[in-house]
Amino acid sequence: MISIHNEPQPTDLGDVRVANRAVVLRHVRLHAPCSRADIAARTGLNKATVSSLVSELIDQRLVRETGLTENRVGRPATMLVLDGEPYAALGLQIGVDELVAVAIDLAGNRLLTWRRAFTAAAVGPTETMRALAAVTRRAIGRVTAQGRTVLGLTVGVPGLVDPAGAVPLAAALGWRDVPVAADLRAALRQPPFAVGVDTVANLAALAEQRHGTYAGTADLVHLTGGPTVGAGIIAAGRLLRGGHGFAGEISHLCLDPAGPTCLCGGRGCLAALVGLPAVVARLLPDATADGPITDYLPELERIVALARQGDPTVLSGLAETGRQVGRAVAILADLLNPQVVVLGDHLATLAPWLLPAARSELAARSHAPDAGGCRLDASTLTAAAALGGATAALATVEAGRLPALT
Ligand SMILES: [Zn+2]
Repeated sequence: MISIHNEPQPTDLGDVRVANRAVVLRHVRLHAPCSRADIAARTGLNKATVSSLVSELIDQRLVRETGLTENRVGRPATMLVLDGEPYAALGLQIGVDELVAVAIDLAGNRLLTWRRAFTAAAVGPTETMRALAAVTRRAIGRVTAQGRTVLGLTVGVPGLVDPAGAVPLAAALGWRDVPVAADLRAALRQPPFAVGVDTVANLAALAEQRHGTYAGTADLVHLTGGPTVGAGIIAAGRLLRGGHGFAGEISHLCLDPAGPTCLCGGRGCLAALVGLPAVVARLLPDATADGPITDYLPELERIVALARQGDPTVLSGLAETGRQVGRAVAILADLLNPQVVVLGDHLATLAPWLLPAARSELAARSHAPDAGGCRLDASTLTAAAALGGATAALATVEAGRLPALT
């Protein structure tokens, strides 16, 4: 189970009702179809309370009835499921070379996944925010045309995000002090729903924890790829944010003081060893012959094609990259003792060739036997950060707050 926000402890009866509503919603999400009696038996709430909360959730169209149980001893019970129809949550992602939009319904079903090639670093924050607002308006238009109310949206940014939703630094985009949440709210004319911002690493970890192969795992790390490498850390079921929300920034963890120079000015940082530009530079030395690379996707596809053909230089370069990934994961395993570390983005694309070396390195370098039970695997999600953004946007309703219906 995951809590996205630190909900205050209930202090009065209204808060208790909100908390109980969250308990009922969570039970239906995890165990649907289920009956009112099941909810009461499994949550410890009394039947009258469950009945009253369920009526309210049905009125709000957050839950719906779906017929009677079969093969049940005693009186047949009406079963309940989440009502996916009336609502949508949006997730947006500012990637280094794309903008991504995902919409899901309350039950987590995907309503749309859009990707648009876009080089944010080349055009700067003003133009990027304008393009992001345009994509967001289109996505809102699409889901509202289906009769849905937008519950919220969250934007993922590859950089540091402060609690107000501003980005003090995003080295991968060349951004400093961009008020992403405030700008987007203004561009959307102060919408009635919440507009949040978080790091792509945190949002991808949320998506992984809710929708990925290891969904439900309480201690999980997701590594995002691209020019930098971020760790989204879920510890004991909660995102680990740190004092100012900057936890998990492992791009500039120094693995080799004599290694290649990094965009931060240091040497041998994780990003300078396993970031996508570093991998392309190592494996495809001719790639910059025609000038600087602006779109890395074709280069990544070339690496995959050469690896499939058994190209010895590419295979040994990928094994070396895998060892570097394994070294970083061994540090995470010792520090956090996660049950699984999941590789995303280009690290997931290259996983068939990275994982054998990375797993050996993890086993050899981590202190605890069997790496403390830490598994290392590749993500199977597409557009993970945007999916996580949409998931995060459901947090208020999942915490038991009723949506503001218009
Ligand atoms: Zn660095």
